Amino acid sequence: MMRIALIALASILVIPNSQLKAQDEKDFSLNRLTDDLYHFRGGTGGNHFGTVLVTDEGIVVVDTVEPKSALWLKNELAKRFNQPVKYVIFSHSHYDHIGGSKLFKEGGAIIIAHENAEAEILEEERTQQWMSKREIVLPDIAFSDKFVLKIGDKTVNLISLGSGHTDSLIVAHFVEDRTIHLVDVASIKQVGFMTLGRPIKKYIPQLEKAMALDFDLVVPGHAALGEKQDVRNYIDYLTTLISQVENAISEGKTLEETQQILLGSMAEFNYLKRWDEWFLLNVTGVYLQIAEGEASD
Ligand SMILES: [Zn+2]
Repeated sequence: MMRIALIALASILVIPNSQLKAQDEKDFSLNRLTDDLYHFRGGTGGNHFGTVLVTDEGIVVVDTVEPKSALWLKNELAKRFNQPVKYVIFSHSHYDHIGGSKLFKEGGAIIIAHENAEAEILEEERTQQWMSKREIVLPDIAFSDKFVLKIGDKTVNLISLGSGHTDSLIVAHFVEDRTIHLVDVASIKQVGFMTLGRPIKKYIPQLEKAMALDFDLVVPGHAALGEKQDVRNYIDYLTTLISQVENAISEGKTLEETQQILLGSMAEFNYLKRWDEWFLLNVTGVYLQIAEGEASD
């Protein structure tokens, strides 16, 4: 009981913080999505997103983003809700999504992630020099295929998406609120980010596994909110892009020729945002992966 009381106290304390500047705070927000779900916006330029579930038995945060954003979120939750953050969930091992988790762990939250996340986090820490200055926390609970989290009258299903964008990527399914948190494989209402991730062909089964869930709303990691159809549209975009690049390569086309062909043949997708900025980069990324035999592994 004492531990629970201390956890509750720690998590409702508002930490005065001189590190947060006005220019940071304009990038942060917490907006209601459904009855109990909130959309957390943070990160540099406000382009990283988390999902927060508030119940009468505590709060669940999926992706705390980086430390300044997490500090703002912790204070905001304490101001608005009289509930402790009980669980923090990692969507996957990448620091830009989970870097702020230490604050919540110190407040008593339990960290849940896929079983591959820990090794990936430690490997990134070992190999990336900039990571040595970061404060990483490791998961308390790890799972392989699926983890069912019951809290209050809500169910959050955490489902592994297998190998692709890392080997630790999961989708968080807020069953009653008919919402999924799905990051980095799904680019909602816009083309993919720059030259896309690797191995790009493995993103398709990851996206299809998420599509099999029963949901209306999707919270992506770096783009606007969307609906289920937006995920389907992105799968169509990606599969079309991959197959047209494969055709062009099999016909011996150069990268520049492929770019010119696809600008015309994929024009039906030019309604997607960032088309002018990133479409040719998307083509380049897929072309190089396929040409180098690295699109599938
Ligand atoms: Zn990532």
